[in-house]
Amino acid sequence: MNTIITIDGPAGSGKSTVSRMIAETLQFFYLDTGAMYRAVALQAKREGVDCGDSKKLERICDNIDLNFWMDGGCNKLSLGSEDVTLAIRSPEMDMLSSKISAVKEVRDAMKTLQRKMGSKGRMVAEGRDMGTVVFPDADYKFFVTALPEIRAERRFKEWQDRGEIVSMAEVAKELKKRDNQDTNRDIAPLRPAKDAKVIDSTALNQNEVVELILKEIKK
Ligand code: C5P
Repeated sequence: MNTIITIDGPAGSGKSTVSRMIAETLQFFYLDTGAMYRAVALQAKREGVDCGDSKKLERICDNIDLNFWMDGGCNKLSLGSEDVTLAIRSPEMDMLSSKISAVKEVRDAMKTLQRKMGSKGRMVAEGRDMGTVVFPDADYKFFVTALPEIRAERRFKEWQDRGEIVSMAEVAKELKKRDNQDTNRDIAPLRPAKDAKVIDSTALNQNEVVELILKEIKK
Protein backbone atom coordinates (compact mmCIF):
# COMPACT_ATOMS: atom_id res chain seq x y z
CA MET A 1 0.00 0.00 0.00
CA ASN A 2 1.40 3.37 -1.07
CA THR A 3 -0.37 5.29 1.70
CA ILE A 4 0.77 8.77 2.72
CA ILE A 5 -0.73 10.59 5.72
CA THR A 6 0.12 14.27 6.08
CA ILE A 7 -0.07 16.12 9.39
CA ASP A 8 0.59 19.86 9.26
CA GLY A 9 0.18 22.63 11.79
CA PRO A 10 1.89 25.38 13.79
CA ALA A 11 4.54 24.95 16.48
CA GLY A 12 3.21 23.69 19.80
CA SER A 13 0.06 22.15 18.32
CA GLY A 14 1.21 18.72 19.51
CA LYS A 15 1.47 17.41 15.95
CA SER A 16 4.94 15.87 16.37
CA THR A 17 4.02 13.51 19.20
CA VAL A 18 0.71 12.70 17.52
CA SER A 19 2.45 11.96 14.19
CA ARG A 20 4.98 9.69 15.89
CA MET A 21 2.23 7.82 17.72
CA ILE A 22 0.18 7.34 14.53
CA ALA A 23 3.26 6.10 12.67
CA GLU A 24 4.03 3.67 15.50
CA THR A 25 0.45 2.35 15.61
CA LEU A 26 0.27 1.83 11.84
CA GLN A 27 3.90 0.70 11.54
CA PHE A 28 4.56 3.53 9.09
CA PHE A 29 7.73 5.58 8.63
CA TYR A 30 7.57 8.91 10.48
CA LEU A 31 9.02 11.84 8.52
CA ASP A 32 9.73 14.87 10.71
CA THR A 33 10.31 17.54 8.05
CA GLY A 34 10.86 20.29 10.63
CA ALA A 35 13.93 18.34 11.76
CA MET A 36 15.24 18.47 8.19
CA TYR A 37 15.00 22.29 8.09
CA ARG A 38 16.60 22.41 11.51
CA ALA A 39 19.54 20.28 10.30
CA VAL A 40 20.07 22.62 7.33
CA ALA A 41 20.03 25.56 9.77
CA LEU A 42 22.59 23.84 12.01
CA GLN A 43 24.90 23.14 9.09
CA ALA A 44 24.55 26.73 7.85
CA LYS A 45 25.45 28.04 11.28
CA ARG A 46 28.48 25.77 11.48
CA GLU A 47 29.68 26.91 8.05
CA GLY A 48 28.97 30.55 8.88
CA VAL A 49 26.47 30.83 6.00
CA ASP A 50 23.99 33.67 6.24
CA CYS A 51 20.22 33.20 5.73
CA GLY A 52 20.34 35.61 2.80
CA ASP A 53 22.98 33.62 0.90
CA SER A 54 20.72 31.37 -1.16
CA LYS A 55 23.54 30.03 -3.36
CA LYS A 56 25.56 28.76 -0.39
CA LEU A 57 22.41 27.39 1.24
CA GLU A 58 21.62 25.53 -1.96
CA ARG A 59 25.09 23.98 -1.92
CA ILE A 60 24.58 22.89 1.70
CA CYS A 61 21.27 21.26 0.75
CA ASP A 62 22.79 19.52 -2.29
CA ASN A 63 25.45 17.90 -0.10
CA ILE A 64 23.44 17.23 3.01
CA ASP A 65 23.32 13.65 4.26
CA LEU A 66 20.28 13.17 6.53
CA ASN A 67 19.11 9.90 8.02
CA PHE A 68 16.26 9.18 10.42
CA TRP A 69 16.19 6.18 12.68
CA MET A 70 14.14 5.00 15.65
CA ASP A 71 15.82 4.32 18.96
CA GLY A 72 13.68 3.03 21.81
CA GLY A 73 10.59 4.96 20.65
CA CYS A 74 12.65 8.09 19.98
CA ASN A 75 12.97 9.54 16.50
CA LYS A 76 16.64 10.33 15.86
CA LEU A 77 18.36 12.23 13.08
CA SER A 78 21.93 12.03 11.85
CA LEU A 79 23.75 14.64 9.80
CA GLY A 80 26.53 12.68 8.11
CA SER A 81 27.85 10.41 10.86
CA GLU A 82 26.81 12.73 13.71
CA ASP A 83 23.67 12.30 15.81
CA VAL A 84 22.18 15.82 15.81
CA THR A 85 18.85 14.93 17.48
CA LEU A 86 19.50 17.24 20.44
CA ALA A 87 21.63 19.88 18.72
CA ILE A 88 18.80 20.86 16.35
CA ARG A 89 16.33 21.51 19.22
CA SER A 90 17.85 24.67 20.69
CA PRO A 91 15.89 27.96 20.81
CA GLU A 92 18.44 29.32 18.33
CA MET A 93 17.62 26.55 15.83
CA ASP A 94 13.88 27.23 16.29
CA MET A 95 14.32 30.70 14.84
CA LEU A 96 17.12 29.94 12.36
CA SER A 97 15.23 27.00 10.81
CA SER A 98 12.16 29.20 10.40
CA LYS A 99 14.21 31.90 8.61
CA ILE A 100 16.07 29.44 6.42
CA SER A 101 12.90 27.58 5.47
CA ALA A 102 11.65 30.71 3.66
CA VAL A 103 14.48 30.40 1.09
CA LYS A 104 13.25 28.97 -2.22
CA GLU A 105 16.42 26.95 -2.93
CA VAL A 106 16.16 25.30 0.49
CA ARG A 107 12.47 24.48 0.08
CA ASP A 108 13.02 23.02 -3.40
CA ALA A 109 15.84 20.79 -2.17
CA MET A 110 13.85 19.60 0.88
CA LYS A 111 10.76 18.92 -1.25
CA THR A 112 12.81 16.67 -3.56
CA LEU A 113 14.31 14.82 -0.60
CA GLN A 114 10.93 14.45 1.13
CA ARG A 115 9.25 13.08 -2.00
CA LYS A 116 12.10 10.62 -2.44
CA MET A 117 11.69 9.45 1.16
CA GLY A 118 7.94 9.08 0.59
CA SER A 119 8.17 7.27 -2.72
CA LYS A 120 7.47 3.89 -1.14
CA GLY A 121 4.49 5.20 0.83
CA ARG A 122 3.54 3.90 4.30
CA MET A 123 4.57 7.23 5.72
CA VAL A 124 3.31 9.86 8.15
CA ALA A 125 4.73 13.17 6.85
CA GLU A 126 4.65 15.97 9.41
CA GLY A 127 5.40 19.66 8.83
CA ARG A 128 3.92 22.88 7.49
CA ASP A 129 3.36 22.17 3.76
CA MET A 130 3.02 18.39 3.54
CA GLY A 131 -0.64 18.42 2.47
CA THR A 132 -0.47 21.61 0.40
CA VAL A 133 2.81 21.32 -1.55
CA VAL A 134 4.92 18.22 -0.99
CA PHE A 135 2.21 15.51 -1.05
CA PRO A 136 -0.87 17.20 -2.56
CA ASP A 137 -2.26 13.76 -3.49
CA ALA A 138 -1.81 12.26 -0.02
CA ASP A 139 -4.45 9.73 1.01
CA TYR A 140 -5.23 11.42 4.32
CA LYS A 141 -4.55 15.01 5.31
CA PHE A 142 -4.80 16.58 8.74
CA PHE A 143 -4.09 20.03 10.12
CA VAL A 144 -3.62 20.11 13.88
CA THR A 145 -3.84 23.44 15.64
CA ALA A 146 -4.62 24.97 19.06
CA LEU A 147 -5.05 28.40 20.61
CA PRO A 148 -1.74 30.34 20.74
CA GLU A 149 -1.71 30.53 24.54
CA ILE A 150 -2.15 26.77 24.84
CA ARG A 151 0.62 26.16 22.30
CA ALA A 152 2.91 28.53 24.20
CA GLU A 153 2.17 26.66 27.43
CA ARG A 154 3.06 23.34 25.81
CA ARG A 155 6.30 24.72 24.38
CA PHE A 156 7.18 26.22 27.75
CA LYS A 157 6.75 22.84 29.40
CA GLU A 158 8.89 21.20 26.72
CA TRP A 159 11.68 23.70 27.35
CA GLN A 160 11.44 23.19 31.10
CA ASP A 161 11.65 19.41 30.69
CA ARG A 162 14.79 19.93 28.63
CA GLY A 163 16.34 22.10 31.31
CA GLU A 164 16.31 25.30 29.22
CA ILE A 165 15.91 28.45 31.26
CA VAL A 166 13.33 30.58 29.47
CA SER A 167 10.35 32.59 30.65
CA MET A 168 6.78 31.98 29.56
CA ALA A 169 6.77 35.48 28.03
CA GLU A 170 9.86 34.66 25.90
CA VAL A 171 8.31 31.41 24.68
CA ALA A 172 5.06 33.17 23.74
CA LYS A 173 6.97 35.90 21.89
CA GLU A 174 9.14 33.40 20.00
CA LEU A 175 6.11 31.34 19.03
CA LYS A 176 4.25 34.39 17.73
CA LYS A 177 7.25 35.47 15.67
CA ARG A 178 7.70 31.99 14.19
CA ASP A 179 3.94 31.71 13.46
CA ASN A 180 4.16 35.01 11.62
CA GLN A 181 7.21 34.01 9.59
CA ASP A 182 5.78 30.60 8.68
CA THR A 183 2.31 31.91 7.81
CA ASN A 184 3.31 34.98 5.84
CA ARG A 185 6.19 33.72 3.72
CA ASP A 186 5.74 33.69 -0.06
CA ILE A 187 6.58 30.05 -0.68
CA ALA A 188 4.63 27.21 0.92
CA PRO A 189 3.12 29.25 3.77
CA LEU A 190 1.61 27.47 6.73
CA ARG A 191 -2.06 26.82 6.01
CA PRO A 192 -4.40 23.83 5.89
CA ALA A 193 -4.82 22.08 2.54
CA LYS A 194 -8.34 22.55 1.16
CA ASP A 195 -9.02 18.85 1.64
CA ALA A 196 -7.40 18.55 5.09
CA LYS A 197 -9.37 17.74 8.19
CA VAL A 198 -8.66 20.49 10.71
CA ILE A 199 -8.34 19.34 14.32
CA ASP A 200 -8.37 21.88 17.14
CA SER A 201 -6.39 20.26 19.95
CA THR A 202 -6.95 23.10 22.44
CA ALA A 203 -9.12 20.96 24.69
CA LEU A 204 -7.78 17.56 23.65
CA ASN A 205 -4.87 15.51 24.92
CA GLN A 206 -2.51 13.71 22.54
CA ASN A 207 -4.27 10.34 22.87
CA GLU A 208 -7.58 11.94 21.95
CA VAL A 209 -6.08 13.55 18.83
CA VAL A 210 -4.51 10.22 17.84
CA GLU A 211 -7.88 8.47 18.29
CA LEU A 212 -9.63 11.09 16.17
CA ILE A 213 -7.13 10.71 13.35
CA LEU A 214 -7.17 6.89 13.44
CA LYS A 215 -10.97 6.92 13.41
CA GLU A 216 -10.94 9.20 10.36
CA ILE A 217 -8.49 6.91 8.56
CA LYS A 218 -10.57 3.78 9.29
CA LYS A 219 -13.77 5.42 7.96
O1 C5P B 1 8.25 21.63 13.16
P1 C5P B 1 9.46 22.36 13.64
O2 C5P B 1 9.17 23.36 14.69
O3 C5P B 1 10.57 21.44 14.03
O4 C5P B 1 9.97 23.15 12.34
C1 C5P B 1 11.02 24.09 12.41
C2 C5P B 1 10.80 25.14 11.34
O5 C5P B 1 10.96 24.54 10.06
C3 C5P B 1 9.40 25.75 11.33
O6 C5P B 1 9.29 26.91 12.13
C4 C5P B 1 9.19 26.09 9.87
O7 C5P B 1 9.64 27.37 9.57
C5 C5P B 1 10.06 25.10 9.12
N1 C5P B 1 9.29 24.06 8.45
C6 C5P B 1 8.79 24.35 7.20
N2 C5P B 1 8.15 23.38 6.50
C7 C5P B 1 7.98 22.16 7.00
C8 C5P B 1 8.46 21.85 8.30
C9 C5P B 1 9.10 22.85 9.00
O8 C5P B 1 8.90 25.47 6.73
N3 C5P B 1 7.38 21.24 6.27
